[in-house]
Parts: sequence; structure tokens; C-alpha cells
Amino acid sequence: MNEFLASDIKFLKGVGATRAEILQKEIGLFKFQDALHYFPFRYVDRTKFYSISEIDSDTSYIQIKGKVIRIEEMGTTHTKRLVAHFFDGENEIELLWFKGITWIKKLLKIGEEIVIFGKPNHYKGSINFTHPELDSVANRLKTAPLEAVYHTTDMMKTRRVESKIVRQIIQNALNHERYAVPEIFSPELCEKYKLIPRSKAFKYIHQPPSHRHIEAAQYRFKFEELFFLQFPFIRKKINRREANQGITFGKDALLYNQFVNQHLPFELTDAQERVLQEITTDLTSGKQMSRLLQGDVGSGKTIVAFLSVLRAIDNGYQASLMAPTEILAIQHFMGLKELADQLHLKIGLLTGSTTKKERVTLHEKLLSGEIKLLIGTHALIEDVVKFQNLGLVIIDEQHRFGVAQRAKLQGKGKENPHVLVMTATPIPRTLAMSMYGDLDYSVIDEMPAGRKEIKTVHRFGFAREKVHEFVKQEIIKGRQAYIVYPLIEESEKLNYKDLNNGYDELLVSFPRPTYQVEMLHGKMKPSDKEAKMKDFSDGKTHLLVSTTVIEVGINVPNASIMIIESAEKFGLSQLHQLRGRVGRGAAQSYCILLSSKNLSANAKTRLKAMVHTSSGFELSEIDMQLRGFGDIAGTRQSGLDQLKLASLHTDGHIAELARNAIIELLTQDPSFEHHPALYHFMKDKQGYTDWENIA
Ligand code: ADP
Ligand code: MG
Repeated sequence: MNEFLASDIKFLKGVGATRAEILQKEIGLFKFQDALHYFPFRYVDRTKFYSISEIDSDTSYIQIKGKVIRIEEMGTTHTKRLVAHFFDGENEIELLWFKGITWIKKLLKIGEEIVIFGKPNHYKGSINFTHPELDSVANRLKTAPLEAVYHTTDMMKTRRVESKIVRQIIQNALNHERYAVPEIFSPELCEKYKLIPRSKAFKYIHQPPSHRHIEAAQYRFKFEELFFLQFPFIRKKINRREANQGITFGKDALLYNQFVNQHLPFELTDAQERVLQEITTDLTSGKQMSRLLQGDVGSGKTIVAFLSVLRAIDNGYQASLMAPTEILAIQHFMGLKELADQLHLKIGLLTGSTTKKERVTLHEKLLSGEIKLLIGTHALIEDVVKFQNLGLVIIDEQHRFGVAQRAKLQGKGKENPHVLVMTATPIPRTLAMSMYGDLDYSVIDEMPAGRKEIKTVHRFGFAREKVHEFVKQEIIKGRQAYIVYPLIEESEKLNYKDLNNGYDELLVSFPRPTYQVEMLHGKMKPSDKEAKMKDFSDGKTHLLVSTTVIEVGINVPNASIMIIESAEKFGLSQLHQLRGRVGRGAAQSYCILLSSKNLSANAKTRLKAMVHTSSGFELSEIDMQLRGFGDIAGTRQSGLDQLKLASLHTDGHIAELARNAIIELLTQDPSFEHHPALYHFMKDKQGYTDWENIA
């Protein structure tokens, strides 16, 4: 590695042993290059002077020119503070110091024109600045117009290593006599993707001459981050495509066409059409399909799955559909059976609770090829389950299954069956690509027409009675409701509203026979679950009281109310999934989040986000901010913690460009003969474990 970049941070001017330790421990700066990579989180415009009258409640860091007209010391020992009255020619505010009072007192000269810099506080109707930075007017005019601001930790602040110091240190690196940052991309690549040179990008991001320079530098680094994030996955994908021969489904589409022309219950959305086209292209390509189908809750993935199944059957193959829970498998079975019956196709259901006798017949009919589609839980992957000729494997709600299980189900085909993985986890495309490794990617990014936005509100527990009144009115209109609790069993330690208690109380609020209230939870016998589900989808049950077993996939269009008890106990994606159970029919739907009054800041943010947006993508972005990337991806190896500037949500277009660059590189120069700098850079890159297979 470049000698300059690899130098120990303690040798940098302004650092030394003590600060080096703080910088290492607090923000992970070990080498010069780490300092360069410690990007500012914002910039302050130092050319603009504000007047006090311009300050409002949103005002962030600003500078004001003015005079101190009076100084007083107030309070005793603990409350001791210095108050300077500062006048900008029109208005007056207070500057406050709690520490360093003696020193500041000496510094402040009454009547002298100075510049103060800081973030205004609003306190009981008046404005003050606490510990503002002070500068002479002459000094101020000498500094850079845009000043970088850096994150510092509390510990750094108490040790006086503040943003200002960090900035100074980084600038010392940039102005170092040996400053040298080699380019890693080829001139052609830089030219094509409009990347400014690496060494300039570091200068511009830390010492920007203008906003335009900041943008160019940020773009360069975002591109880099997204390039290295996606590189291993894309390489894997290219390799797989070359290696895996697949079954070619021909153009036969008898059942497919019959279904589309005569039985399709609605018009497909453009997004569904597009995805079907992508799937068809795969199925007819001669290569094995390995595709992730992502679509927000309710976007209509099931029908896409069913149409893909028909393609398999049309070509003489069987298909299987695996769901993560028994309830979901049953639900799929009930729904798809209706469709399959119209085509006189035999389909089967296999779950953990299928009886021995039923299994025997099921196994026979699978082997003989009589059953065309087998739906089930992970019971599907047991060794005894054998197909005559499995050609398509569909996995619903992938985040619950491991890669190994996917492989095992796939292994049941004599040939290499096609694989379609469906997920509603609303994650940005780039994140999806990292989480699902080598899968190709399709997205249904459009909801069926006529869906009304679900009205979401947040209420505290004491409003429960009012909420129940509202539910009664909706039931009278013919609607149905879910009430979800986070737990099944009473837990004394956790102050949860427990399901059984809740159920008993609900029976009082919603007396029979006017109201039919039923309970459903994971510990019930499967046949009971099935019966309860059926009663609810047939409209016999008005109110289904449940745990999160209904989280994924359940589809009862007439249900229009989702009440979530102890909503603060649920994660964002779970809340979104639960809400997705309603809003599936024509009626206006509601989601009511009930919580206790004591909410953590994090819980408040989650509930607010739910009320504010119904976009799964937006929610996942918020979720990522709350939980961190690695946590969502389930693993640090996802590499998502490498992203410092790029956002998977808002920088999708840059991710796309980086992706193109990777594909070009891997197809034109797979052994990196013409890209030695990049080769060595990637080899050096920490945590880059995947490299060996390239060269
Ligand atoms: P998900 O993607 O969450 O699995 P589903 O496949 O369960 O969603 O579909 C949700 C609901 O939308 C179902 O009732 C389904 O019949 C309906 N649906 C799917 N596609 C369309 C469409 N193009 N037009 C109208 N309704 C549709
Ligand atoms: Mg589904």
C-alpha cells in the first residue's frame, strides 16, 4: 500500500500519542488513510452572516456579526455561568458559558466587533448560544468559505478533540508534503463514469472551494463504495450464469394462455407483466433461473408465482411452493386450489401436521406426476418427498429460510430446477442484492389499481374503548378486524398486554352472538388453525385475535382494520407486514397502533414513521437508520457497514452505474490485466475475502 496512506496517525501533525489513542478508540482512525476517509457529515457556509431576526426554530449552525454590550456572572458554584449580552445592531441575545469563565471574560471586550458561531437554543421564548465559537472579523474573512463539520463522540468532546480539531488534523494530512493518493480506476472508467481523481476528491470533500466540488467528490466516493459493495455479488452471479445449465421451457403455454384469457380474476399491473416477462426470459433461456422477486406487501406476488407454475406444468414439469409457516401454506393452498380447479389441475398440501396416511398417498401422487403443484412448509424438503420431475421451486418470504434449505429443495429435481424466491421485506435493490447474494432481481414496484391508502393512527392504551367502539361500527358495515398481541403467555417481567387476557376482555367488549370473536396463535393444533382461518376468510368471524402468526402473507380482502396492541414492542418491518394484512379490498382500511405512554425515543420514531408513510421502502430506510445496516442484513459480511456516504435508498442510480462498470470490467478484463491498480487495491482491502477466485 501507498506509504503515505499507510502511515500511523500519531505521526500526523497535530495528533501525537494521546490524541492518536482517542482517535483510534473513538472513531477508528489508525492510519492517514482512515483520516482521509473520515468524511464530514455537513458543511457550514462561512460566507453568510445572519441577523438575529432571521433565527427561527429550525436554524442550525450560523454565524452572526455583532458586539458584546454587557457581561454578567450569575449563579453560585454549580449554577455558575457567564452571560454576555450580544447585539447585532438591531436585536439582542445572550451568549452563555458554564466552563472556562475566567478565560472567556478576559477574551471578551465590550464594544468590539466580533463574529460568533454556533447553534441557537430557544429557551422560554428567548434565544441564546451556549459556548459559541468566537472570532475576530478579520480572521473570519480569511477562512475557507465552506467549512466541514465532523462527528465527534462525547468522550472526544470532553477531551477537547472537537470537530474543529478533527478538521485541522485532516487538513494537515491533505497539506502534508508527501500527500499522495493514487488513482485506482482506469482512465477510461473515470472518464466514462465522470469520476474526478481520487486525490482531488479527498481535497474537495474536506476543503471544498464550492458546493459543486462537494458534489463531485461525494459522487466519486459513493460510486466507489457501491462498486466495492456490489463487486463480489455480481462476480458470483456472472459465474453462476455461466456454470448452471437449466431446463429450457419451450413456448408451450396451453394452460397459461387458457388461464390468462378465461380465468384471471383481474388485470395484471404493468409491474406484474414486466416481472412475468423477466421470468419467462429466464425459463426459456436454457440457463437455470435463480431469481428474487421483491414486492411490497399486497403488491400481488402470488399470481405471478401461479402463472410461473403454469409455465412449468405446460412444459411437463411439476412445481413446488414453500412457505415459512403452516398458516401461510394453508392460505396459499386454499387460494391457489380455487385457481387450479378451474384448470382441473391437481395440487397438494404438505405440512408438519399432514397425517401419515395422507402422506403416503401424497408421495405416490407426486412420484406418478399426478400432483402438479405441491405447497407446504419446510416439510417439503424432507428426504422422503420425491417428485417425478420437479422443474420449478418457489419460496415465499425468503427471509425466514436459509440458503441451505433453498438448495435442498432445489436438489429434488433430477435436472436443475428453476428457483424463484419471493419476499416482501421492503429493502432497497442494492441491499437486496447483497442479502440474496447471487440471485437475479425483479421487483413489483406498483400496487394493484384502486387500493386506498390505509389510514394509520397511533393511540395510547387508554383510548382502547373508543377504538373498540369504532371497530363495532365497522363490523356493522360488514367489515372484519384483526387484533394482534406480541406475546402468547403472560410474562411478568415484561409488561405486555397478553393475548389470553386480551381475548377475555374482548369477549366482554364484543359480546356474542352479536359479535364473533376468535383467537388464533402459533401453539394451536394445525387443524384448529386452519378452521379458524377459514371461518375468518369466510366472514363468519368478525374479530380475529392473534399473535404474529398472521404476520406474513394472510389475505382476507374483507378485513379492513388492523389493531396492534403494544405496538412499541414490534420492529418496523413487522409493523409494516402486519398493516399489510388490511387494505386488500375496496373498503377504506385502518391500522391502529396502541401503545403505552412510556415510549423510548426509538419506539416513538417507529410509530411516527408508521403513521407518516405506507411505503415499505421508506420504512426500511428508517429502519436501517435505527438499527444499522449490518443488523438488517443479518450479517456484518454483507459489507453494508462500508457505506459511509452512499445511501442504498437514495443513491440507487449511482449503484446502477457502479453495477454497469463492474459488469463491463468483468466481461472485458476478467483477469484484471489492464487494471493493476484496482487489482492491488482490492487485494489490500480489508475484509475482502472473496478475491482468490478472480485471478
Ligand atoms: P403479496 O405480494 O403480499 O403476496 P398477494 O399476492 O397476496 O400479495 O396479493 C394481494 C391481493 O391483491 C390479493 O387479494 C390478490 O388477489 C390481489 N391482486 C393481485 N394482483 C392484482 C391485480 N393486478 N389487480 C387487482 N388485485 C390484485
Ligand atoms: Mg404473499
